[in-house]
Parts: sequence; structure tokens; C-alpha cells
Amino acid sequence: MYVCPKCGKEIEKIEQKFVRCPYCGSRILMKKRPPIAKEVSTD
Ligand SMILES: [Zn+2]
Repeated sequence: MYVCPKCGKEIEKIEQKFVRCPYCGSRILMKKRPPIAKEVSTD
């Protein structure tokens, strides 16, 4: 999971060779850690 710091969109998969945001075209994406439930959630 990646997050575009420019437009804030989340990109689940990047299949291309190069990393690029499909929404705004930004080539800078931040890797997002998979959600690990450490705390008890009532959701
Ligand atoms: Zn973007």
C-alpha cells in the first residue's frame, strides 16, 4: 500500500516498473505500513 503525499490518494498496487501516482502523476509515493491492530478496536 502506498500513499501519495501530493493528493492523498491511496494506491494499493504498483504494477509498473516505476512508482507513480495514477491520480495526479506524482512520482513520489510514501510506503504505507499494513494496518496492524495493536490496540483493541470496537469497530
Ligand atoms: Zn497523487
